[in-house]
Amino acid sequence: MKESEKRYRRLIEASHDLLVTVNLQGNIIDTNEAAVKFTGVDRETLTGSDFFVYFTEPDLVREVFEEVLAHESVTNVPFTLLHTNGTHTDVLFDGYVYKDDLGTSLGAVIVAREIAEKKWATELGLANKELAFQHHEKEKRANELSIANEELAFQNHEKEKRAQELSVANEELAFQNDEKEKRAQELSVANQELAFQNDEKEKRAQELSVANKELAFQNNEKEKRAQELSIANIELAFQNDEKEKRAAELVIANKELAFQNDEKVKRAAELRIANYARGLIEASRDPLVTISPEGKITDMNQATVKITGMSREQLLDSDFFTYFTEPQMAREVYQEVFAKGAVADSPLTLRHKDGKLTDVLFNGSVYKNDQGEVLGVVIVARDVTDQKRIATELNEAKIAAELATELAEEAQAKAESATQIAEDAVKAKQQFLSNMSHEIRTPMNAIIGFTKVVLKTEITEKQREYLTAIKLSGDALIVLINDILDLAKVDAGKMTFEQIPFKLSASIFAMVHLFETKIQERNLELVMEYDPKIPEVLVGDPVRLHQIILNLVSNAVKFTTEGKITVGVRMLVQDAEKVILEFSVTDTGIGIAAAKLGSIFDDFQQATSGTSRLYGGTGLGLAIVKNLVEPQGGTISVKSKLGEGSTFSFILSFNKTLEKVDSDLGLDIELETGFKDVKILVVEDIALNQLLMKTLLEDFGFAMDVADNGKIALEMLKDTSYDIILMDLQMPEMNGFEATSYIRNELKLQVPIIALTADVTTVDVEKCKAVGMNDYISKPIDDKLLYSKIIRFLKDAGYDKKAAVQKIEDLQTKPLTCVNFDYLKRITKNDTRMAEMIRLYLQEIPALVQTMKKAMAEKDWGTLKHATHSIIPTFATMGINPEFEDIAKAIQALAANQLSTEDGQGTSEETMAMLYTLFSKIETVCALAAEELEGKLVALSATITG
Ligand code: ADP
Repeated sequence: MKESEKRYRRLIEASHDLLVTVNLQGNIIDTNEAAVKFTGVDRETLTGSDFFVYFTEPDLVREVFEEVLAHESVTNVPFTLLHTNGTHTDVLFDGYVYKDDLGTSLGAVIVAREIAEKKWATELGLANKELAFQHHEKEKRANELSIANEELAFQNHEKEKRAQELSVANEELAFQNDEKEKRAQELSVANQELAFQNDEKEKRAQELSVANKELAFQNNEKEKRAQELSIANIELAFQNDEKEKRAAELVIANKELAFQNDEKVKRAAELRIANYARGLIEASRDPLVTISPEGKITDMNQATVKITGMSREQLLDSDFFTYFTEPQMAREVYQEVFAKGAVADSPLTLRHKDGKLTDVLFNGSVYKNDQGEVLGVVIVARDVTDQKRIATELNEAKIAAELATELAEEAQAKAESATQIAEDAVKAKQQFLSNMSHEIRTPMNAIIGFTKVVLKTEITEKQREYLTAIKLSGDALIVLINDILDLAKVDAGKMTFEQIPFKLSASIFAMVHLFETKIQERNLELVMEYDPKIPEVLVGDPVRLHQIILNLVSNAVKFTTEGKITVGVRMLVQDAEKVILEFSVTDTGIGIAAAKLGSIFDDFQQATSGTSRLYGGTGLGLAIVKNLVEPQGGTISVKSKLGEGSTFSFILSFNKTLEKVDSDLGLDIELETGFKDVKILVVEDIALNQLLMKTLLEDFGFAMDVADNGKIALEMLKDTSYDIILMDLQMPEMNGFEATSYIRNELKLQVPIIALTADVTTVDVEKCKAVGMNDYISKPIDDKLLYSKIIRFLKDAGYDKKAAVQKIEDLQTKPLTCVNFDYLKRITKNDTRMAEMIRLYLQEIPALVQTMKKAMAEKDWGTLKHATHSIIPTFATMGINPEFEDIAKAIQALAANQLSTEDGQGTSEETMAMLYTLFSKIETVCALAAEELEGKLVALSATITG
């Protein structure tokens, strides 16, 4: 290697930049230490390797390389070198072609410089540019500042000018103000002067007017004086005249005087008589007055003075009639006196000057002089104030009495019409309730009835749940409707109670059971306290009892949110016939305020006004409960404390019985056999009800026909016979009452008729019976009840022929076990009493049997029934087989049945035959018993006497 070459090599190796020589194919021919450093690849590997692979973007580098070859060089292309340890180095890439001596390209020399230095250079450039820019800006600001300074100087100059102008303007203003004030002062002085002058003017005007008045007055006075003067002159002339006249009169008077003296002597004699009369007149209590023909008073007595309150002087010569309240009438009366000569007892009223009135009877007659000339009238006015007062009072009393009578009559008329209205309203209310009940209950019954029917079919559990809910809601609604109707029935005094045997405990438990879910839902405890000593079967009205307890328990549940509800039944007293029970429902609920305890049993009363909003209800429940308890002879009471709870308890008595209860109120009916060919006619207009009845009766295994109304039923009955008729009451065309009466009276059929009714307010059992119905059953139809009633009628009316005949046949095969002496001994306890009993039996029974026989022969059904009735209990007493009791009962039923037809005329051969068959059994057993008893009596007599 030459020395110069060595120097180049050292330089190349010392370079911090990557230096590489690359041939035309891109392979590295030569490289330096920096290349090894940047790539992490040793020289041997680098040499001959593809140059481009040492960059992150080899393809781009290859393109630039091609560019170098094409254009001889490129500079400052940014690329990134890739080190084998993964680090990157940003570089600026310069490339130059190198050629051989002939100028042929051999490849390129590449220099890659780390980019940090370049950045710095760029920053420097940028900093220089910024500096230059800032410098430029500064110069601009300096220019702007100098312009601004000039502007400021100009403005200052302007300001000074304005200030000077302002000061001049101010001076001018001050001057003008001064002037204004001066003018104002001058004006005020001028005004004062003017006011003063006006005052003066007015004063002068006033003075002038006063002067004028004075002048006018003086003129007036002058005229007056002139007039007075003239009058005075006339007067003077007149007085002179008068003086002359007086003189003339004086002469005459003297003459007169002489004459009067003569007269005086005459008068003195007359006066004596007159004085006596005068005394009488003055003493009179009645006003006495004499009146001249002109009507002027000429004389009067003291009574007149007193009654008028006027002095004699005033009265004298005054018009008498002015002292009456009705002067015109008074005048007429005394004119009458003049005309007729006298007037008697004319009623008038005198008035005292103070206003006091005196009723008088005016009597008057004329008086005449010796020549018969009328001189005047003498009047006596009798004071009748007291009489008049009494008369008036009497009259008033009479009027008042008449008025009172009138008022009383009016009031009576009103009361009668009010009563009528009230009665009409009550009737209308009952009618309305009756109609509504029909309208509401018909569809309701269908809903409940069909729900029951569907419940009996095969359905899923869910469906059962829903249907049960429908049924419960329907039941609740019916209960509500019944409540309202019950109340109406109570109002109308039509509430009736049944007396049937029922199982009390089963009834109570079943009902309380209804509330179990509700009680559980509310987390309440239910406690039953049932006295075990209570007999199982009692006689009473179980439906009403249900209703009472239902109301009380549902209230207890409703008004209780925590704690327990206790339903208790306790036996208070019992004797041979009856028990007295106390039922109680106790809760731990909200309680009732003491003040309200008295009224909660009234209709529509709730303990607080908010009760209905919070708990619902109508306030009817307790009113009904009370009306169900009290008519049965019971009492109901309540004890309660607000916030602690309430106890409702009622006491009822029930008769005891040995009878068995027909059936429990289970859901399934046990159908009896032997009633296969039963045919029933249903008379019912509503299709829903028809369908319901059809479903029920088919379930019972009965055949049925339907008639849409009474009329159709009658047609059907002419051709077909039925075992039972179920008869709706309210139907179009012909109702149930009419139809029944026709069946009994025209068709003369005895078929049992059971009324079906939804209308409990008008269901009058009496009315049903009166037209000849045998029983009634109310809707919603209880299927069990319907079945048991049908069966009972079939049996009672002897329709159970097959069963009866079967029974007799059975009896005939059995040996007759007649009197049961063990039993007889047990109940009589000792021989003496037993003997007594037997004797009684022997005395009565054979006679009764004879009576029965005779009655049957005579078809005297009343006697037969009665005798059979008497014989029935003796079978039990003697311990005779109870089958005979049943036979006797059958005879009794047949007799009763015949009795209800027309006097046995229609008794069929068949019935008679059956009666005799049954009777012969009774006759036989009674004869046998008598025989056995006679034997026993003999034996007993021996032991007793022995
Ligand atoms: P209703 O419950 O339909 O309102 P009721 O006649 O059954 O009507 O009851 C009348 C009122 O007596 C109720 O509204 C309630 O205020 C009160 N009451 C009845 N029972 C109870 C009870 N067990 N606890 C508290 N309050 C009761």
